[in-house]
Amino acid sequence: MGIANTPAATDFPSLHTRYGIADERTNNAHFLQGQSIPSAFHKPEQLFSAACCGFPGPARNDGEARSGHRVPAQTSNRDTPHFPLSVTGLLLGGMNLFKPPAFAHGDRLEAAGHVVRLAINPRARRVSLRIDRTRREVIATAPTARRLAEAATFARDRADWIAQQMAGLPTATPVCPGLTVSLFGQAFELVTATGRARLDAEAGQILAPDDAAYGDRVLRLIKVHSQRRFLHLTGAYCEKLSTAVPRVSVVDPKARWGSCSPARPGVGPSIRYSWRLALAPFEVADYVAAHECAHLIEANHGPRFWALVSRTFGDPAPHRDWLRHNGTALHAFGR
Ligand SMILES: [Zn+2]
Repeated sequence: MGIANTPAATDFPSLHTRYGIADERTNNAHFLQGQSIPSAFHKPEQLFSAACCGFPGPARNDGEARSGHRVPAQTSNRDTPHFPLSVTGLLLGGMNLFKPPAFAHGDRLEAAGHVVRLAINPRARRVSLRIDRTRREVIATAPTARRLAEAATFARDRADWIAQQMAGLPTATPVCPGLTVSLFGQAFELVTATGRARLDAEAGQILAPDDAAYGDRVLRLIKVHSQRRFLHLTGAYCEKLSTAVPRVSVVDPKARWGSCSPARPGVGPSIRYSWRLALAPFEVADYVAAHECAHLIEANHGPRFWALVSRTFGDPAPHRDWLRHNGTALHAFGR
């Protein structure tokens, strides 16, 4: 997706009356598409012969992959019932009408030591592989349930590609004492201390007891700090826009940096921010606040909306760019 000062409305998905900043990394997810495969490929016996040629399938160990993840039994000669000759008319093009698909939406299997999730997307035209960089997982998509087996084979066939893509993800950053994190541009040192866990903004420290809950306590403090700062930023932009301050909350969405629900009859306005924006440069979080507050006035991404962003904040392009290129790293924190 290109970066423009006045992106088209279709640049951002919207959900009913809620508008927000989509995590554009999801649109950049690494993607691999399968070839159009002749229908004969779906024949169970051909699938089995593929498994014999270097596509290790789970069918031979009763549905258990080596990783321990449950894997549904794959179609194979052994699984295929042998019908008497009089019943062969019920087989259409090598496909048994009575046999349910071997895989289901949401099933997981293993390829290159990584979990691959199978998904059905009726709008897809062929099988494909995608890396969800936020969830750090591989998704094999097929247009129909019957073609999930093809997607599974495709994933196993592309094990090298999966390994390469997963190796390129940012390293997960566990929260532990000694780490220094930047919150809204201010450095905080994570230290251990007895007593109540606390964030000391003046000292630039986050303190918590040295126990098993250390990471959870620190993350909770960062979320509270993030909500406080976003409430402040939101108030400032609402003042510029001469509009009422909405309810502000922080959440941890996978695919959005912020979302806004403008006021409607009986319900006040509200804005939700990803707390992970605290880890971005201050200007990036500031831009997202300006963006969401502009939605309180203009619940769309039209020219008047971008004019409001430009008037209250300035040029959004560098900050959208930053999120597009660095957003994945924000999601690696605390994992
Ligand atoms: Zn928006």
